[in-house]
Amino acid sequence: MAEARRNRTNPSTLPRRRNGFEDRGSHQTPFASRRKSADDNTASRDHIAAAPRAHAPTHPAHAPHYNPAHMTALLAFYALATGAIIGSFLNVVIHRYPREESIVFPPSHCPDCNTNIRWYDNVPILSYLALGARCRNCRVPISPRYPLIELANALFYLAIFQRTGPSVIFLPLAAIVSMTIVLIYIDLEIQILPDVIDVPGVFVGALIAWIGADFAPGLVLAATLLDSILGALLGAGILAAIILAYWLIRRREGMGWGDVKMLAMIGAVVGWQAVPAVLLLASITGAIVAVPLALRSKERFQLAIPFGVFLGIATLAVLFFGHTLFEWWLRAFVPN
Ligand SMILES: [Zn+2]
Repeated sequence: MAEARRNRTNPSTLPRRRNGFEDRGSHQTPFASRRKSADDNTASRDHIAAAPRAHAPTHPAHAPHYNPAHMTALLAFYALATGAIIGSFLNVVIHRYPREESIVFPPSHCPDCNTNIRWYDNVPILSYLALGARCRNCRVPISPRYPLIELANALFYLAIFQRTGPSVIFLPLAAIVSMTIVLIYIDLEIQILPDVIDVPGVFVGALIAWIGADFAPGLVLAATLLDSILGALLGAGILAAIILAYWLIRRREGMGWGDVKMLAMIGAVVGWQAVPAVLLLASITGAIVAVPLALRSKERFQLAIPFGVFLGIATLAVLFFGHTLFEWWLRAFVPN
């Protein structure tokens, strides 16, 4: 850095300036320094002039006229804000899809008093806080689901950006995470996994693999397009086999075909190698929640369990923490 600063100065003064720096850096006594300065008057003046300049910022012609750290912070904020805005749209989908309403018309309105929501009452997260969690018109409480979905989607977008930086792979990854959030919520509410989400999801997963998992280090993704296609086939194949086996034994469907398509989408995203990990995690968390419910319920084991909820949560966990989980697994169970 110091070398670069020196080079910007007039070449004719360069040797003397260098002397000045050497004087500053050396461990001479003040007396010796003063004596040397007295010998060479110009060196002394240079010494004084160089001191403040050494701390001045430099702007070489080839360097960008912005601070790269500020640019990254700005883009990270955009990722967060976009996540919150898309999260607001996800709330509309989550609310209207089960009610078979259009997701574009009519504009946002209070579900209780039907008053149109003004733009300043529709700012993600902030409006909920400003309104004190109540409708401005009818004062009916607003579900905490709204700010929570917005916040979750925003934080996931930030987490993706942290891995990808400003890369085009951010877009399909953000789409997959948002689609997974919607699948989790709609399955929880009405036990349906809409084909309009998980079927295109297979292609988005393949697109991510095609762009290249290298652009999203730290995320568990299909490494190649072939891994992605095999992942979709393995995911769909395992659950289809379970449904057929269950049907042969019990003569009824234990799981929906929606789960088959959802695991096909997940397989396309994470690749065939990670499909067993997602299935295992979903089964364990599903059992932890479902077994106590099934034991308490009257019609034992007839309980409809929204497996898509657990598949979705397991997918997000493996996607973001897969490497950490596998490391922990290896350290815990594989002897050194
Ligand atoms: Zn209202």
